[in-house]
Amino acid sequence: MNTDCLFCRIAAGSIPSVKVYETDGVLAFLDISPVEKGHTLVISKRAHSATILDTPPDIAAELLAAAKTVAAGMMAASFGGVNLVQNNFPDGGQAVPHIHFHVIPRAKGRQGPLVWASGSNPYADDAERAAFAERIRAGIAAANP
Ligand code: 5GP
Ligand code: ZN
Repeated sequence: MNTDCLFCRIAAGSIPSVKVYETDGVLAFLDISPVEKGHTLVISKRAHSATILDTPPDIAAELLAAAKTVAAGMMAASFGGVNLVQNNFPDGGQAVPHIHFHVIPRAKGRQGPLVWASGSNPYADDAERAAFAERIRAGIAAANP
């Protein structure tokens, strides 16, 4: 892991995050600037790699499996849909060079393509953020007993 990397520090717990799912290998936590409420990031706790290109296949597979677990939890939590996004390189819109999947729940009736605008759907307050996190945690527990 890389102590200069924001997501390595979040994975290590030295920077706090609102966690929704964690295993020995992965951590899923709420994005600080959600494009939709419930916007979640999935990162590896095992190793630092910047993009999908330098990520070993077993780590990439573990990340995708975790993203699927989170997505299933969101659907079990009565969201209407879910988008997976994975950006690579600055020209690909990647701001944090530690590989991550975005798992973005869509409210029922939302429809249409995802609009990628960082921070466009902020939480009203800490209580609303906590409520979304708890809803997703409960959905993950229900969908993945
Ligand atoms: P990227 O553009 O690299 O695909 O996505 C990086 C994401 O990390 C962005 O959606 C951004 O809002 C999120 N982010 C940046 N800094 C932090 C932080 O300190 N905490 C959390 N929870 N999310 C962050
Ligand atoms: Zn890192």
